[in-house]
Amino acid sequence: MSPLTADFRVPAGMPVVANLGMGVDSSAYAARWLTDPASRGFDLDQLTFLIAAVGEEYGTTHRLMEECLFPLIARHRIRTVTVARKGHSTAEGYLVLDDTRTPTRLRTRPADEAAAAPVSLGERMLQAGTLPQVSRDRRACSSWIKHFALDSWIKDNVGGAPFVHVIGYSAEEPERSQTDLLKNRGHRRPDFPLQRWGWGRQRCEDFLLETFGRRFVRSCCGFCPFQGTKAGREALVERWAAEPDLALRALLIEHSALVHNERALLFGSTPAYRVVAEAGLNDVLAAHQAQLAAQRWAIYEVRRIYWPHPQHGPAKKGQAWRSVRAVATGSLSRMTAELPRAAAAHGGTPVIDRHGITRVPLLTPTAPYPAVEHFLALGPALAADKQRKEFEHGWSQVAGPAPARAGQPRGPIGLAA
Ligand code: SF4
Repeated sequence: MSPLTADFRVPAGMPVVANLGMGVDSSAYAARWLTDPASRGFDLDQLTFLIAAVGEEYGTTHRLMEECLFPLIARHRIRTVTVARKGHSTAEGYLVLDDTRTPTRLRTRPADEAAAAPVSLGERMLQAGTLPQVSRDRRACSSWIKHFALDSWIKDNVGGAPFVHVIGYSAEEPERSQTDLLKNRGHRRPDFPLQRWGWGRQRCEDFLLETFGRRFVRSCCGFCPFQGTKAGREALVERWAAEPDLALRALLIEHSALVHNERALLFGSTPAYRVVAEAGLNDVLAAHQAQLAAQRWAIYEVRRIYWPHPQHGPAKKGQAWRSVRAVATGSLSRMTAELPRAAAAHGGTPVIDRHGITRVPLLTPTAPYPAVEHFLALGPALAADKQRKEFEHGWSQVAGPAPARAGQPRGPIGLAA
């Protein structure tokens, strides 16, 4: 079905579900609709605002919603639904954290503290020992935490009839709306009001400032690595200085990812700990060391198989399979004492890498591929054991039965916990 474009008018009775991302873009169209009826093209009783909570939003996001946008929404009594992903597995589904026509608080946790709490993206990253990533041009994290909950709610609540799905792509993002249109199927009619209005980021910011007297900012996870420009990184540092708990969360997530992958820097080529150090946030760095020391620790055994690139062949890395296993857990001092014994048992030597993480390299992958990587590393015991069911078969094909590199070990490690 083609998108609704110029002379925009939604047929009477057709639901309009508008994603409210709580940042600049979606806040701008929400505020314009409610202050300028001619901008809408539908009646307000057709409209539902849909919010996906990620669980680690900035305090500024809470304040801008609760002090500016929610009072306006409540005055017009627009249905506003807040959803969140319930658990790590898809089968657990999603939670409705709020469903009201008079929103006052941004709920990222259930109002009833005894009720099941949703999973946050930060918890997911720590459990997987990884960082938010882009996969096939999509932010896999956003699909996992936000789109899953949004799409699940729409599927359950809109039914099979045509509905308008409003997304806040700005006039500067035509490629995003084109991608959405190309993928669109069925009864969903995407609409991008900011593009119909020709509103870019600055116009949205100016409109929100005129309407509320407040400067709206990007809404994102406190550890979001997708900060775009240098100005985006500078804004992030300011936010971390104002909300150091979120900086600490980012540092913990990055540290945990680095344990499992030395190249997992939050900002591509720049680690978050360097951003914090260069910003002079020394209290945050000190608190980060304290939060690490307070963790339960583990010796992780990490193995990877790098398969050949499907197009470029064995000279280039393709897909990687990873196996992670905590071979021992305990206090930091106990694990620090245990690691040299584990290393010696496997013929390796502990080294401290460029991030200050103690690891024991056992096999280093080099072309041609497939090739394997194998190491032990000391880290906070936050990541879950994980490997795909075909992993051992793949490992034995690539690394065994003969040792992959003369004089080096090939099998997984056994160590008493
Ligand atoms: S805000 Fe950033 S880290 Fe969070 S889901 Fe979106 S893209 Fe991922």
